[in-house]
Amino acid sequence: MNAISDIAPPQVDLELRGIAKSFGDFVALERVDLAIERGEFVAIMGPSGCGKTTLLRIVAGLESMSSGQLLLRGQDISALPVHKRSTRLVWQNFALFPHLNVRQNIAFGLTLRRHDKAKVKAKVDEIADLVQLGQFLDRRIGQLSGGQKQRVAIARALVTEPEILLLDEPLSALDAHLRIRMQSEMKRLQQRLGISFLYVTHNQSEAFSMADRVVVMNRGRIEQYGPPEEIYTQPKTHFVAEFVGSNNIFDGKVVDVEGGLIKVQCADAVISAAAGERPPGKGSTVSLVVQADKIGSKPAGTVAENSLNAVLSGREFTGSQVIYHLETAAGVEVKMVAQEPFSQTERTAINMAMQLYWSPGDTVVLRPGIVPGVENIPGGRSYVALGA
Ligand code: ATP
Repeated sequence: MNAISDIAPPQVDLELRGIAKSFGDFVALERVDLAIERGEFVAIMGPSGCGKTTLLRIVAGLESMSSGQLLLRGQDISALPVHKRSTRLVWQNFALFPHLNVRQNIAFGLTLRRHDKAKVKAKVDEIADLVQLGQFLDRRIGQLSGGQKQRVAIARALVTEPEILLLDEPLSALDAHLRIRMQSEMKRLQQRLGISFLYVTHNQSEAFSMADRVVVMNRGRIEQYGPPEEIYTQPKTHFVAEFVGSNNIFDGKVVDVEGGLIKVQCADAVISAAAGERPPGKGSTVSLVVQADKIGSKPAGTVAENSLNAVLSGREFTGSQVIYHLETAAGVEVKMVAQEPFSQTERTAINMAMQLYWSPGDTVVLRPGIVPGVENIPGGRSYVALGA
């Protein structure tokens, strides 16, 4: 077994230092800092207009930045034109040349660079095999399926051996079924190549299923960066809690801190949460986040640590899960996800009263704070996790 000192520290592939971008008066990116380690699959997600594509285009060299610095494997590439960067961008709409066949499309970047013909052929054959296009090399683009076109776009980007591959919603043009199949293909390909992928997507399940780490962006800044499980179970800000997963958020004031728990007076009940190392003091305003799948239901009158009375207002059966929509007396909407429908004896009906419960340990506490980079945005005050 290796001694700790023998383990090489992770090498940073791409480093974004204080990247900012304004279009006239409009601030599209606010001092974005990000480090991507070699061989990492990083997904950027966030609502429409939050700056994902702008960030990717800046890394690709297709958009200038207003300020900041961009390092690729330690080299400052901030001023390098697009064709001199060893980054490649795969587009949402593939952007293939319809008048060229698959081989010519894949070879395009190499022929532009006037490489030796035999070398170009060998390289195209190698990449085509890698993305399983070997048998389609003579076909026209119009004769390919959506998934095959998508692979041509990736092969065309890979043929020039980029140090990092940038992908802007590359699966969005595919139907849902193919999209899921391509997700695992994409992940396998990235692992075989061992190069970093920086992948922009709207789609949470896509980001979570493929990425080693996920960047959640909001209004031109990064709200959280971490492994998918951490983003899902430990949202650091109010925005991430609302945007990711299926969370319930209860706002309230701390009324007691005792025995490792904080007690928070919320609209309908006093809710307990694990206090953590630096609990907020009495009187502090906090938001409590509880994942919908951490909430259960008990017969009325059952004593539980955290319980809340609510009335069932809707039910969605999704096959493996049922999502229950409920409302408390104070009008707070609550979501509960159950892995299987209740049994016949527990059958639910709209408007029935239910008692919900969950563990204080499953309650994430957010307190008002300033997310770095938000100070200049009107209303930029946010809620951040304890200890964040
Ligand atoms: P989507 O998910 O909808 O593609 P996005 O997160 O990729 O959105 P961007 O395309 O990066 O968002 O755009 C960020 C913001 O910058 C948007 O408000 C957009 O209108 C604005 N923007 C982008 N390009 C320009 C431009 N050339 N001129 C002016 N504003 C721009």
